[in-house]
Amino acid sequence: MAKASQLHCSFCGRNRDEVKILIAGQDGHICENCVEHAQEIIAQELTSKQEGAHASANFKLNVRRPAEIKKFLDEYVIGQDDAKKVLSVAVYNHYKRVNNKQSQDDVEIEKSNIIMVGETGTGKTLLAKTIARLLNVPFAIVDATVFTEAGYVGEDVESMLTRLLQNCNYDVTAAERGIVYVDELDKIARKGDNPSITRDVSGEGVQQGLLKMLEGTEVLVPPQGGRKHPEQKMIKVDTKNILFICGGAFDGIDKVIARRVNTNAIGFSVNKEEQEHQRKNLLQFINAQDLKSFGLIPELLGRLPVITHLNPLDTETLRNILTEPKNSLIKQFTRLFELEGIELLIDNDVMDFMVKKALEYKLGARGLRSICESILTDAMFELPGTDTRKLHITLDYAEQMFGKSKLSVLKVA
Ligand code: ADP
Repeated sequence: MAKASQLHCSFCGRNRDEVKILIAGQDGHICENCVEHAQEIIAQELTSKQEGAHASANFKLNVRRPAEIKKFLDEYVIGQDDAKKVLSVAVYNHYKRVNNKQSQDDVEIEKSNIIMVGETGTGKTLLAKTIARLLNVPFAIVDATVFTEAGYVGEDVESMLTRLLQNCNYDVTAAERGIVYVDELDKIARKGDNPSITRDVSGEGVQQGLLKMLEGTEVLVPPQGGRKHPEQKMIKVDTKNILFICGGAFDGIDKVIARRVNTNAIGFSVNKEEQEHQRKNLLQFINAQDLKSFGLIPELLGRLPVITHLNPLDTETLRNILTEPKNSLIKQFTRLFELEGIELLIDNDVMDFMVKKALEYKLGARGLRSICESILTDAMFELPGTDTRKLHITLDYAEQMFGKSKLSVLKVA
């Protein structure tokens, strides 16, 4: 055993003779000063946790009026006015319902979960993300295609709440007021109208699994996601106030709508441009009946009462996406160069060229970034550290850079 003079506090290192009391533990000692200090830390931690829980319980969402929500969306998302309006109202009603849950009368306002139908890259995720940002609630994006019916290879639907929990540091109270964006809902459509002999474990099975969760129920969520297993500790989450926004391209639904509204949209005599125009116009007539014909089960549709559509992006919209949003691509690149002390100037015809290429290569709004990068990468590589203070991108330069890029090798379909 160590001699009394060699004994010291394992926390602050003071020797035996510098302290009044030294308490022995299994492999070390602690002095009276450190005990006192530890006690203070514990008290502080406990109060801040209690305050946090209290604040969380009393948290009242700042519900903005629909017009304010739409105005905020306008700053980030170009066009899509119909979808923005419908979403603003649905989100407003949803959170009004959440805030007024103790109302005395027996009128129960139902949840207004939403389906957005529109081609990929038209802004569905962006809309959902922007709304979550405005309300400052936890937000998760999940892909419906990874889920399968319980018992089969894949993930349980409950694990979509894992993402939500992870995004708010497992604060269950916050997660219970969050927004989940379920992408690619169309991919879990029932395969064909006839019940087949093989089980539809990634289609109708998943839709069945989603029902309760969309409606509102207490769900046991595996903290790490994936498939639930018996030994795992689960977190209980109530989904009654979680807003589910679903999105999907629902390829071919225009024909279903056309059949219903008795319009002959797709014919041999109609050229591609006209077809596209009609498709755009047809989507605005979409209703639950069309989604049912596409393969969503009626019970699921009942729990997704708000349906809206997004228009395909035309030249003008793409051109505006480049420059108009608060964090538009051009603003982002300008800022990047500015941080390097370089003023970036891009000619208007270069932007028209970018839009033309995005349409030509069918890259949509997502492709605008890769096109911008293909044009600016060389400059971003070479200029830092030089004394260049101004970069002027002309159409000639843009064409030359784009021609050198891998993008230009893509075959135009
Ligand atoms: P979707 O979910 O419909 O497939 P996203 O919302 O993920 O499409 O859009 C992909 C990207 O394209 C977004 O990050 C955004 O930069 C851009 N984008 C698409 N549509 C718009 C729009 N209407 N306004 C502004 N940006 C858009």
